[in-house]
Amino acid sequence: MIPEKMYNPRMSQRATKQPKQPRKEPQPKFPKSFITQILITVIIFFVISSAYTLFTDQKDANEIPFSQVAQDILTGSITSIVVEGDTLTIIRADGSEQTSRKETGVGLSESFAAYGVTPAELASTTISVQSASGFWFWVINLAPILIPLLLIGFFIYMITRSAKGTGMQAFSFGQARAKFFDPKDNKKVLFKDVAGVKEAKQELLEIVDFLKNPKKFLAIGAQIPKGVLLMGSPGTGKTLLARAVAGEAGVPFFSISGSEFVEMFVGVGASRVRDLFQTVKKAAPAIIFIDEIDAVGRVRGTGVGGGNDEREQTLNQILVEMDGFEPTEEVIVMAATNRPDVLDPALLRPGRFDRRVRLDLPDRADREAILAIHARTKPLAEDVVLKTVAERTPGFSGADLQSLMNEAAILAAREDRMKVAQFDLIRSIEKVMMGPERRSHILSDKEKKITAYHEAGHALVASVLTESDPIHKVSIIARGHMGGYTLSLPLEENRLFTRKAFLDRLAMTLGGYAAEEMVFGDITTGPSNDLQVASSLARDMVTRYGMSLEVGPVALVEDVQHQGGMSEVRDYSEKIAAKVDDEVGKLLSVARERAAKVLTDHKHVLDAIVNVLIEKETIEQDDFEAILRAHGIAVKGKEKGVS
Ligand code: ADP
Ligand code: MG
Ligand code: ZN
Repeated sequence: MIPEKMYNPRMSQRATKQPKQPRKEPQPKFPKSFITQILITVIIFFVISSAYTLFTDQKDANEIPFSQVAQDILTGSITSIVVEGDTLTIIRADGSEQTSRKETGVGLSESFAAYGVTPAELASTTISVQSASGFWFWVINLAPILIPLLLIGFFIYMITRSAKGTGMQAFSFGQARAKFFDPKDNKKVLFKDVAGVKEAKQELLEIVDFLKNPKKFLAIGAQIPKGVLLMGSPGTGKTLLARAVAGEAGVPFFSISGSEFVEMFVGVGASRVRDLFQTVKKAAPAIIFIDEIDAVGRVRGTGVGGGNDEREQTLNQILVEMDGFEPTEEVIVMAATNRPDVLDPALLRPGRFDRRVRLDLPDRADREAILAIHARTKPLAEDVVLKTVAERTPGFSGADLQSLMNEAAILAAREDRMKVAQFDLIRSIEKVMMGPERRSHILSDKEKKITAYHEAGHALVASVLTESDPIHKVSIIARGHMGGYTLSLPLEENRLFTRKAFLDRLAMTLGGYAAEEMVFGDITTGPSNDLQVASSLARDMVTRYGMSLEVGPVALVEDVQHQGGMSEVRDYSEKIAAKVDDEVGKLLSVARERAAKVLTDHKHVLDAIVNVLIEKETIEQDDFEAILRAHGIAVKGKEKGVS
C-alpha cells in the first residue's frame, strides 16, 4: 500500500490519519478505564453518603431528650432556650448549656403542649428564636438533593470524557465523520502542487471559478454542475486534485471515504450522508468530497457482494441529497474512483455526477514535474537530473514517484549524506517497481517500443488516408487495459458514413497490427481489440449496409426489439453465410494491405513519430501535425479544406 496513503508531508497532518482501521474492528467495547471510573464513582458515592449520615446523626454528648426539657421547664431549672431550626440550646440557671431537638415541622409551643407544658408555665423561660443560617445549615439541608445531583453530573462528565478520549462511538451515531479542511489553512493544496493532469485541471478551473464567484454565474442563470467524478487509476492524484480545487477556490472542504459511510449499524450510512450534507450546506460555498465512491456506489441489486442493504441505503441517500439541493446552493459534490466501470448508472445521470474528469498516468514531462514537486522539501545533490529519472519510470503514477523520492531520501539518510544523489534516485526506481505494489502497466523498453510502433501505425495510416478522421492525440501511456491509444475525432459530427470512410477506418484500425508485423516481423496480443473492432465493422458493412459488392444490396440481419432488449436475427442460408465470411475476410485483408502500404511508403515518418513517442510518450495534435508537415503530409481540415 505504498502509494495510496502516502501524503505529502506539507499537507495537513490530518490527511495522513485516515481513520481506516476502526471500521474493521468490532465496535469498541467499554474501555477498561471506563469501568474503573464507574467503580470510583460508586465508591465516592458510598463514602460521601455514609459520612453524611454519620455527620448528621452524630449525637451531641450534651444532648438531652425533649421530654426532659419539658419536665425541667416545669421544675423551673431552665432560664432560656435558643431555638435554631429544630435544634434547641438550653441554658440553665447555673449557666450550663445543653442541646435538644424538637419534632420537625411542629411549633415549639405545640411541642411543649404535647408534654403538658402550658403557655403560662412557658412564660417563665426566655425563648429566643434565631433564624437558622450559616454555611453548615445550608449544607446539611441541601445535601440530600445536591449530592445525588453532583454525582450524576460527575458521572455524565466522566462518560463523555472517556467517549472522546477513546473514540467511543456510542455518542456519535449518525454523525458524519468527515475530515474538514479549513480554507484558511496555510498548508492548503493548490493546483501548482499537482503536476501534469492538464486536461483535468482545465475542466476543474470552471468549478473553482464558480466557487470563488458564484454570483457571477447565477446572475446569468448558468446551471452549475453539482457533481464531478474524478476517474483514474490509483495514485494518479485524484484525492490531491480534489483538495487542490478547494484550496484554489478557498472554500471549506469536507472529505469522507466511501467506506466510512458503511458502518456496522444499519441506517447509519444513510444518516451519515444526511448529516454531512446538512453540515456542508451551512458552510456553503463548499465542497463535499467522497473518496473511493465505488465502496458505496456499486451497481445496486446485482446480488454481487451479498446485496448489501446498508450500502444501497447509503447510495440512495446520496442520490436523494444530490437531487434535493438546488444548483444555487453553491455546494459541489466531488467524488473519486478508480473503478468507474462498477458504478451504479444512477450516479452518472444528469444532475448528479454528470461531469466526469479523467486523470491519466503521467507522461515523461509530467513525471519530471511531479518529481520536482516532491523534491521541493529534499535537498538534491548537484548531479541529480530529474529528466533521466523520469525517462526511466514509464508507467509510474504520481504516488509511485512520490514514493520513489521518499525512498531515495531514506537511502541518503541511511548513508549519512545530507543530500539526495542521482544514484539514490536510480536505485529507488527498482525498489518502487519491485515493491509490493508492482504494477502490471510498467513497460519494459521493448514493450514501449512495440507500443510506440503500434500507435504510430494507427496515427500515420489515419493521417495519410483521406477519409479518416484527424488525429488529436497519440499516446503510449496505458489507459484502462489498453497499452496506449490514438485519439482521432471527426471534423464535424457525422450522421452518414460512406463506404470509402469505412474502408479507411478499417485500414486505420489495422494500422497498429500492420506496423507491428512490418517492423518486428511478429504480432503481439496487443492488437486483439483492434481485430475485434475491425471484424465487427467489416461484418456490419456486409450484412447491414449492403457495402459488399459480392453479397450486394441486401440486409441480412434484422434488429428485433423484445422484452429483454435488442437482439439480432440472422436469416440467411449456409451458402450466403459462407459468402459473408469470405467477404469479411477480404475486406480485412485489403484493409491490412492498404495500411501496410501506407506504412512502407512513409517508413521515415513512422520512425519519426515513434522517436517522439518514445521520448515524450504523448503527442498532442499540434506537435503531431508539425511532424506530418515536416514530412510533406497534408494536414486534414487545414491545407486541404474540410474533407
Ligand atoms: P489517488 O487518490 O488518485 O489514488 P492521491 O491523490 O491519493 O491518488 O495521490 C497520492 C499521492 O501521490 C499524493 O498525495 C501526491 O503526493 C502524489 N501525487 C499523485 N499524483 C500527483 C501529481 N499529479 N502531482 C503531484 N503529486 C502527485
Ligand atoms: Mg485517493
Ligand atoms: Zn491498436
